Amino acid sequence: METKQDIKSMDLDTLKQHMTELGEKPFRAGQLYEWMHVKLARDYEEMTNIPKSMKALCEEHFTYTALQCVQVQESKLDGTKKFLFGLPDGNVVESVWMKYHHGNSVCISSQVGCRMGCRFCASTLDGLERNLLPGEMLDQIYAITRLTGERVSNVVVMGTGEPMDNYDNLLTFIHMLTDDHGLHISQRNITVSTCGIVPRMRQLAEEKLQITLALSLHATTDEKRKKLMPIANKYSLSELMETCSYYFEQTGRRLTFEYSLVGGVNDTTEDAEELIRLVRPLNCHVNLIPVNPIKESDYVESDKSAVFAFKNKLEKNRINVTIRREMGRDIDGACGQLRRKHLHGEQPSAGEEITC
Ligand code: SAH
Repeated sequence: METKQDIKSMDLDTLKQHMTELGEKPFRAGQLYEWMHVKLARDYEEMTNIPKSMKALCEEHFTYTALQCVQVQESKLDGTKKFLFGLPDGNVVESVWMKYHHGNSVCISSQVGCRMGCRFCASTLDGLERNLLPGEMLDQIYAITRLTGERVSNVVVMGTGEPMDNYDNLLTFIHMLTDDHGLHISQRNITVSTCGIVPRMRQLAEEKLQITLALSLHATTDEKRKKLMPIANKYSLSELMETCSYYFEQTGRRLTFEYSLVGGVNDTTEDAEELIRLVRPLNCHVNLIPVNPIKESDYVESDKSAVFAFKNKLEKNRINVTIRREMGRDIDGACGQLRRKHLHGEQPSAGEEITC
């Protein structure tokens, strides 16, 4: 039997084509699309101007992604909310909603699990289950918009998964989120974070999008990076930095380097000096993230003094640097922690569990 395609994962042209094949008028595709991607309908029931016969036809031919809210935790520290969503096949994914002065930001997952194996990351501990469809990435934003009743202005693809390992779906997702038939979020308000899959980064550069690319660097020598991130065995730091320059040349967009500070591993003065040497030639921003320790690894946070010394060193050398505000630390804020606890039947951390 042919498996049904997800109607929410189709861009407008694809949807028009399908509707025409089913003998419907193209304007009906426009109406359907608006219900799904602007009015954020959860099902066909809500679509008041679509004929019953057409709804039946759609149900017969396609699936309709509508994530189910399984659990929400709200941080008592900063109001950050972490959502656990159920997918139709029984998998769960997590997404985070953060309120900033400049608007609301949502951090979405791009895969169920991850196969990149970074040593400090909880998302990868159970491996990769499957890729998320464009509609499943979009629906994390749509469901949160409906649940909070507030508009989302920024989207970061920094949840579970490696977005460059789900490249085609990621691109469809970006186009559907940013074009004027959907939520029309500006490309400049989207950040995609990667552990550094060089050929995909080059390909993305050639798309000439206006999104921000964030590279998870975390170490300044190949030797150290290999210990933290297995992907470093495949692509060297020199290849990676060259690719970052290429991204900037092609898009004119300043890169972000993420650097998780791990106590006694990558947080010394020499590390800071190496980092300066590495990133100075590039137009970039460095985001320092004090590592969020997971119980499955021995890594510990850097001392506060080491974090500030590291930041000062970079600033003195005129590198643009911020320390990531630690949102939702009391609610399993680090990638994949909440999902993993759910899978293993463990209690989530403190915060406050609220109803969906
Ligand atoms: N796969 C992508 C995006 C997901 S992770 C990537 O590697 O960039 C988003 C960021 O959080 C990455 O920089 C990742 O290395 C970092 N991260 C993951 N687990 C962490 C933890 N426990 N503490 C601090 N940073 C973590």
